[in-house]
Amino acid sequence: MSTQLLLGNDAIALGMVQNGCQVVTAYPGTPSSEILAGVVKFKKQLGREIYTEWSASEKVAFEVALAASWSGLRSATAMKQVGLNVAADPMFSAAYTGVVGGFVIVPCDDPGPISSQTEQDSRLLGLTAKVPVFDPSTPAEAMAMVKDALELSERHRLPVILRPTTRVCHAVQSVEVNGSAQPFIPARPGFKKDPQRWAATPGFRLKLHHELNAKLAAIEGEFEKSPLNFISHLQSSISTERLEIRDGRLGIVASGVAFTTAQEALADFGAPVPILKIGTPYPLPRKLVTDFIAQFERVIVIEEPDACIELQIPDRTRVSGRLDGTVPNAGELSPEVVMSVLAEALDRVGVSVPPPPDDEALGAIIQSLKITPRRPRLCPGCSHRSAMYTMKHVFGPNAIYPGDIGCYSLGTNIRAIDTFVDMGAAVTMATGFYHAARFTDDKRPIVAMIGDSTFLHSGITPLVNAVHTGARFVLLILDNHTTAMTGAQPTPANDYSADGDLAAKIPIPDIVRACGVKFVRIADPYDHEPFEALLKEAQTFTQSPEGGVAVIVADRPCVLYDRTPITENPLPVVITEQCDGCRYCVEAFECPALVLRADKSRVDIDYRICVDCGQCIDACYKGFIVPKEMAVA
Ligand code: SF4
Ligand code: SF4
Repeated sequence: MSTQLLLGNDAIALGMVQNGCQVVTAYPGTPSSEILAGVVKFKKQLGREIYTEWSASEKVAFEVALAASWSGLRSATAMKQVGLNVAADPMFSAAYTGVVGGFVIVPCDDPGPISSQTEQDSRLLGLTAKVPVFDPSTPAEAMAMVKDALELSERHRLPVILRPTTRVCHAVQSVEVNGSAQPFIPARPGFKKDPQRWAATPGFRLKLHHELNAKLAAIEGEFEKSPLNFISHLQSSISTERLEIRDGRLGIVASGVAFTTAQEALADFGAPVPILKIGTPYPLPRKLVTDFIAQFERVIVIEEPDACIELQIPDRTRVSGRLDGTVPNAGELSPEVVMSVLAEALDRVGVSVPPPPDDEALGAIIQSLKITPRRPRLCPGCSHRSAMYTMKHVFGPNAIYPGDIGCYSLGTNIRAIDTFVDMGAAVTMATGFYHAARFTDDKRPIVAMIGDSTFLHSGITPLVNAVHTGARFVLLILDNHTTAMTGAQPTPANDYSADGDLAAKIPIPDIVRACGVKFVRIADPYDHEPFEALLKEAQTFTQSPEGGVAVIVADRPCVLYDRTPITENPLPVVITEQCDGCRYCVEAFECPALVLRADKSRVDIDYRICVDCGQCIDACYKGFIVPKEMAVA
């Protein structure tokens, strides 16, 4: 045994490797992205044979891992919470059919949301799909729960969800690790035909639904006695007066990281309020929870990001939480929020507590740094910025710009994106805007934008649909050769796999042509003039009698992924003395290396982060950003 300092996602990954998962798949998305990378790292460290895959989408990841489970292997799949929507179709079906080898689904929720479209609760999707859920509070618990989830999955032949939130995924904790333990690996399993289960028709599905309900009832019975659900009492630093809180006036039910936060808040308050910690929120051990509630005049449920436990409580007469607004019904349960909820609850039962500590020292340090708050923006040298800048120059502010999910979503800052909905929606929204425009007599150009990874994830079917229905718009596929936003994971358009081994490369232009698109061009968005000419040609094509969708693949690697093209052809720039501080370049081009002076007299280049891409030269319409060589001359 050794103690290792582990990131929550690494702890989950190690749990998968140590407990015999032989197939692990994922689609990247914050806060889940480090899990598969961790599996690759630990399988190499521990010499385990595990198939790992960055799949083309979460649905693909789910089904590949499910097939492994049906072949008798332990398997797992990881994704962010909105990814579980994409994988929901097979998940609902898999709950009915069941599994063979232990199968764990890890959707990582994002209360806040910090980096997602929604702050939805995967536990509730588990409840709707009738898939049991484990809810870890810490990285160490998440690692231990991987084993519990795999064993439960095998005992009841059901997929099982392990649902961490961002603060578990990205927390770091000392974790006890047994590096030499050999996991249970089944001997020579294999897919065994059983059409009435694996290919069940509706009549058999009803039978499987009854079977699923019986499994869930048995699992609820197990959860009633599970050590993952327990009552936590604050034991130390308690004044005699505050001990009176144990008299039954107030109890707490909490799960996930909200349990840890509530526990720490009560410790800070010196208030020994009993907490029923729920590690298995679905199916809820209802007797355990009901018996706990019966001991108190009032019980507050603290969970995130939504009300999963609270909704399952049979009698909520004494219960408060997110449903009645006692706990805010949106937003992350930060320590400040939990402290404020608990302080108010304690006040109602006659126990006053000191106000939450105001960290003056930290506030003073932040102020002394004189950091100007600024919104997230694309990196210096990002080719997406160049593509968007040229696009706006050609089509102007009135064109309709459907966008998608990726780094380029930041194009909203520079008004280059009007909509983003979900993965692949740029293409479908453009199609919808085109067909709607015929009724509204709207002649505005439609220019959609989607990244390479997002196109391969969910853009192909919409493109087939657009071509088939005769839609006409320009589609920019921003191909930066990687899944940049989540840490540069490979896509099917790369020639290497999750392990770094060689893989078959699927060229995006070939896919576009196969979708029936007649206008397909590839261009480097750094070459402003040819790129501009191509955009105009594409728009002309969409208007021509034989026209349709026109696709331009904007081909330039992400600067963080591969800087070779810039280092081979750098174009250092300077801003001349004539700059008058009009801020046009700062706002229209938004490179983080363009910095307005504190006295607002002019803009300077922050050479600490400038990558010498030269892309901002066109961003000063007065011609005051010039190549360094020219300025020296
Ligand atoms: S560099 Fe040009 S666009 Fe930028 S602030 Fe100066 S004058 Fe304005
Ligand atoms: S050259 Fe211009 S656009 Fe490129 S990183 Fe430097 S300041 Fe930004």
